[in-house]
Amino acid sequence: MANRRKFLKTTALATAGVAFQSFISKSEEVVVEINSGKVNKPIVLSTWRFGIEANEAAWIVLKNKGRALDAVEAGVKIPEGDPTERSVGYGGRPDRDGRVTLDACIMDELSNIGSVACLEHIKHPISVARAVMEKTPHVMLAGEGALQFALQQGFKKENLLVEESEKEWKEWLKTNEYNPKANIENHDTIGMIALDANGDLSGACTTSGMAFKMNGRVGDSPIIGAGLYVDNEIGAATATGHGEEVIRISGCHLVVELMRQGKSPQKACEEAVMRIVKLTQKRGKNLKDIQVGFIALNKKGEYGSYCVQGGFNYAVHDAKGNKLIDANYFLK
Ligand code: ASP
Repeated sequence: MANRRKFLKTTALATAGVAFQSFISKSEEVVVEINSGKVNKPIVLSTWRFGIEANEAAWIVLKNKGRALDAVEAGVKIPEGDPTERSVGYGGRPDRDGRVTLDACIMDELSNIGSVACLEHIKHPISVARAVMEKTPHVMLAGEGALQFALQQGFKKENLLVEESEKEWKEWLKTNEYNPKANIENHDTIGMIALDANGDLSGACTTSGMAFKMNGRVGDSPIIGAGLYVDNEIGAATATGHGEEVIRISGCHLVVELMRQGKSPQKACEEAVMRIVKLTQKRGKNLKDIQVGFIALNKKGEYGSYCVQGGFNYAVHDAKGNKLIDANYFLK
């Protein structure tokens, strides 16, 4: 947290215009050392610092040769259930009307997909997304209908607005200015992607979205292809940051397609971020107000990440242990 705040001060000094045309990637490949032909599995990656604890929960499933799908669900449920994590699930910050509305999606190795958007009162939207995937003929339920379905499935209706979030919201109401800032603690999604011992990939993504957003606003996180994408032949990717920017480029689908073209996970993330950089500048918007980070994993267990500006980190757990990595970024 402290680092991210410090980062804000530094980037405030950065100039707005960045010559993306002259951009040369200086990032180092974050590729695991793989002996010829050996796949690094199982492995799990997740966004942000809370990914460390989430990975631990996922690892219990993975090390016991469980399915990646079960691992990612178990993993993201950790921050979802934690009231002190104020950007995911229970305890998440409300919208500008004081309502905690949650977005989540899940995708497995067979391209089964499930998603919920703008779901209220349910602590574990990821499990509702999985129920949508497994128990309905649809792939996405939103709002009241998603809540009704969750209640029918036996999920408990709860108040998700914790005291701290309510206090912040009331403070925010004084200015009532919706101005999402890069890297301020008013959002942060957990996106998790895993490769299991069987060599299968799955992913999950869950968030309360941008704090104090308009009621009904849906970000990238529940949108398959934007906040998450898995292709069991190629790899998986997930995103965090300004959802509007991720949706604009169908971010995670793009990252996976770039890996299909032969790019490493690292290079694929870089290219997707550069597309956001380019479009932001074309549209005359200020890049320093934007943060988007991607993480990606391929079938060999190689991984990578890239983001618009510093401050984003992600957690990786494989047989060697669980570690937090600072992602490389464009705006230096
Ligand atoms: N991507 C999320 C959203 O736009 C927020 C975040 O990851 O910071 O809702």
